[in-house]
Amino acid sequence: MRQETVKSDVTVIGGGLSGICAAIAAARLGQKVALVHNRPVLGGNSSSEVRVWVCGATGHGVNRYARETGIMGELFIQNQYRNPEGNPYLWDVTLLEAVRAEPNLTLFMNTDVREVEADGELDARMIRNVTGWMMGSEREITFESQVFLDCTGDGLVGFLAGAAYRIGREARHEFGEDWAPEVADDITLGSTLLFYTKDTGKPVRFVAPSFAKDITTTSIPIKRVIRSGDSGCHYWWIEWGGELDTVHENERIRDELWSVIYGIWDYIKNSGQFEAENMTLEWVGSIPGKREYRRFLGDTILTQNDVISQRPFEDRIAFGGWSIDLHPPQGMYATESGSKHLHADGIYHIPFGSLYSRNVSNLLFAGRNVSASHVAFGTTRVMATCAVMGEAAGVGAALSVIKGVTPRELREQHLTELQQTMLRTDASIIGLQNVDPADLARKGTVTASSTMTGIWLDEPSEACPLTSDIGWLFPAEGGFEGLTLLASASESTSLTIELWDTGRPENYVPANFKQVLTIQVEAGEKQWLNVPADSSLFGMESCNVFVIVRANEAASLYTSAVPVTGVLAFERGVKPIVSSDLEDHQPDQPVIEWSMKRLVRKPFCFAVSTSAYAPEKVIDGYARPYGGPHTWVSRPLAEGREEWVEVALEEPADVKEIHLTFNDDVNEDLINLHHHETPFLIIPEVVKSYDVQAWANGEWITVASDNENRTRKKVHTLDKSVRTDRIRAVVKETNGGKRAEVVEIRIYE
Ligand SMILES: Cc1cc2nc3c(=O)[nH]c(=O)nc-3n(C[C@H](O)[C@H](O)[C@H](O)COP(=O)(O)OP(=O)(O)OC[C@H]3O[C@@H](n4cnc5c(N)ncnc54)[C@H](O)[C@@H]3O)c2cc1C
Repeated sequence: MRQETVKSDVTVIGGGLSGICAAIAAARLGQKVALVHNRPVLGGNSSSEVRVWVCGATGHGVNRYARETGIMGELFIQNQYRNPEGNPYLWDVTLLEAVRAEPNLTLFMNTDVREVEADGELDARMIRNVTGWMMGSEREITFESQVFLDCTGDGLVGFLAGAAYRIGREARHEFGEDWAPEVADDITLGSTLLFYTKDTGKPVRFVAPSFAKDITTTSIPIKRVIRSGDSGCHYWWIEWGGELDTVHENERIRDELWSVIYGIWDYIKNSGQFEAENMTLEWVGSIPGKREYRRFLGDTILTQNDVISQRPFEDRIAFGGWSIDLHPPQGMYATESGSKHLHADGIYHIPFGSLYSRNVSNLLFAGRNVSASHVAFGTTRVMATCAVMGEAAGVGAALSVIKGVTPRELREQHLTELQQTMLRTDASIIGLQNVDPADLARKGTVTASSTMTGIWLDEPSEACPLTSDIGWLFPAEGGFEGLTLLASASESTSLTIELWDTGRPENYVPANFKQVLTIQVEAGEKQWLNVPADSSLFGMESCNVFVIVRANEAASLYTSAVPVTGVLAFERGVKPIVSSDLEDHQPDQPVIEWSMKRLVRKPFCFAVSTSAYAPEKVIDGYARPYGGPHTWVSRPLAEGREEWVEVALEEPADVKEIHLTFNDDVNEDLINLHHHETPFLIIPEVVKSYDVQAWANGEWITVASDNENRTRKKVHTLDKSVRTDRIRAVVKETNGGKRAEVVEIRIYE
């Protein structure tokens, strides 16, 4: 046996998505990081050992413009490129490569941290080191650092350090949460084992093991959905242990879950009710995926009301968007729905005050153990949200070390720097503007080769009968005076059209009614109808307009063959695909009521003028949609014609670093495993081939370029600075988009 000591600036314990993102974020800010993980593969519940789908703020395509950027965004994009079918092993590889790409980060796998040395009074504790046992290597390793991050899910490190925490559900009155129980208790969400099946192409027998449960003696066949051919997270509802201690009773819970899995498979194979002759079990999980255990107490406890009211915390550092998703304590044996879902009207904000301990001064945390009530945890727990909190905690840890302050002091004294550092590295803090004083582009003047001055969706693909209300959203700016709309009518009729705004800039549902119009349509195919608007109701500033066309049996609209940035389409009252026995979403919640799932990238044919795509959008401080697309869009690209956008600086500077952010359509819902497939490997709007040019000695010189780009954020650090007063991005080709699109340009000395 060997005993070793590893000294770092930051130690991250737990290599789930929160820990991975925390470690990468801190390492990218120049800190020496140890990532200590007790499994042989990275990814926690998302790894091939557990196989939970990575969900996030998009909520499987419920929330609009909600996909994560930053490190989680990079992982989604990379996985989509190399693993669009969602092979769990290739996801593991994606994570491993991302960690190994960081020179400041050292990964210790198979290393289970069990000891923590901490001192100080209960209200001012400090961790000195943690010690782990590296299985298979007989190495006992002590990790010393200034700051520690507990990303273990269960929260063992914080617990051993004496950090304040809770387990179970708060009483309703404590935070005024109407989804909390009347009286506090120690119930949590339960744990789950998943399984994969495959068709072998020939008959396969299944002899059930002695411990398989006869599920016909339970409510499972009646109350849950069992289908031959389903795999993995389709069976998320095989959940148990919410009434037990999910850590100390882990072995008992695993046995119960196994008994049900083999019982379900026996039912599928041998009950005669399924076409499953050729099916076999391909993989059965053996490490229960744990949903919930300790939740640490930070300076802020995020609550249901913060989530649903979308409270814009001053110290917000991340966002979520999954519903508050709670399950009955009896899990798979409950006769009520397997999950109930409460949605905000859009994304919600997460404060930095929820990511550090209130009583252990050098402890941060991220993932399912953050400072949130049980009800709010019901949404923060999904993994892409855990990941963005991880990135924030990692940046917070790095800045704490750099400045020699505690995370609490960082929040009190350096909040702007924390948030701006995150924006600079492409994390998303919704509605927070780039005010980085070092960014020379911000004070520049922007021009472009051309600009899209309106939306002309005039290539119809499919007729869409108005059997129910439909809607769409577009960015109005510079005065909205009306639009034209492509429609057909089987007889003379009148269309009722309403115009709404969306209220908050981060929301994409109809919020405030503005105007109703009745438009006469004669019988006939594909007519362009004029829909005049009262421009005084909308002003000149950037805002999204939500158009509603009421159901009309005699009329049809048309979906477009091509999408346009900034336009989303919706149907009202779509029947849910999943049974309400499994997922109970109240249908009158606006993001559910107005569904875009079947209309992603299929806007309706209409035309409108707007200045929402102007060149100066690249320096307006927003790097993702927020009350408008915040993106420069050119005229259509044409053979032999380059499109460019140029920033003229206030005065000449020695430019050393240029950041470009391209449009990677954060409305597109990507996933790591097999939940759904996205039809392209690379987001089409992302610029593929471009030059970065500087004006020097009377000519444009190319200082950086890429001809195979597929990512959203590109940072070009020049070998030698260039003295210039003008920088431009010349777009030569996209990954399929018809126009050049640039979201942000930053320029640094
Ligand atoms: C069955 C199930 C279905 C779910 N459904 C979804 C879903 O569809 N989509 C979604 O996004 N989320 C879902 N969730 C929630 C989500 O998986 C968790 O909330 C999330 O994984 C928490 O992330 P984390 O990084 O905090 O912890 P984890 O993913 O649990 O990762 C923590 C890692 O730390 C390691 N670790 C623990 N203790 C130590 C130690 N002492 N030393 C070293 N390493 C340690 C663990 O082995 C683990 O790998 C589901 C959860 C379950 C169980």
